[in-house]
Amino acid sequence: MLDHKTLVLNRSWRPITTTSVRRAIVLMARGVAGAVHPNTFEVAEWETWVARGSTPLGTLRAVGFEFPVPEVIVLTAYNGFPELPVSFTRRNVYRRDGFLCVYCGQTPRVSDLTIDHVVPRSRGGDTSWLNCVSACIRCNARKADRTPAQAEMPLQRAPFVPRWPGGLDPRALAERPVWHRFMPAKTPGVTPGVTPGG
Ligand SMILES: [Zn+2]
Repeated sequence: MLDHKTLVLNRSWRPITTTSVRRAIVLMARGVAGAVHPNTFEVAEWETWVARGSTPLGTLRAVGFEFPVPEVIVLTAYNGFPELPVSFTRRNVYRRDGFLCVYCGQTPRVSDLTIDHVVPRSRGGDTSWLNCVSACIRCNARKADRTPAQAEMPLQRAPFVPRWPGGLDPRALAERPVWHRFMPAKTPGVTPGVTPGG
């Protein structure tokens, strides 16, 4: 039961992650999170929560205590949206570079995009976020086995390591029916869970 999952919302009620029941209870005991009643959206802090009966997930007994298992918690202070590392793939390099060729600035068809090693591999360039850029077939062929300086082809934008807004994979929310109502709305500006009732 301690390894069961609890949904974590930030202060604006945006789902940001899931955590173990164990961790959720620690956060509540430290006063940095409250338990959310999934039907009434009522928020209970630690003392209130411990005094309450069981939830659909049951109760947890530990060191003489018995407390209801929280299905959803809301953080009292944290309002961010964690950034997640982005996996290094060809497609993600294209995304980072806006599907542009960094040399000529054109937007070719995706099938005409290639990955260019800024410092060519033959000159010790590695395959990494900071040495790989998207380039059209023409520019890549023209640049060939040279550095941008040698080819006199300056980069229009410098490569960087992307950190994209994280948040919870919607598939994780789909896991538990009571979590569905915390799914971000499609309509901008409307966040389910903020308005109780309904
Ligand atoms: Zn180009």
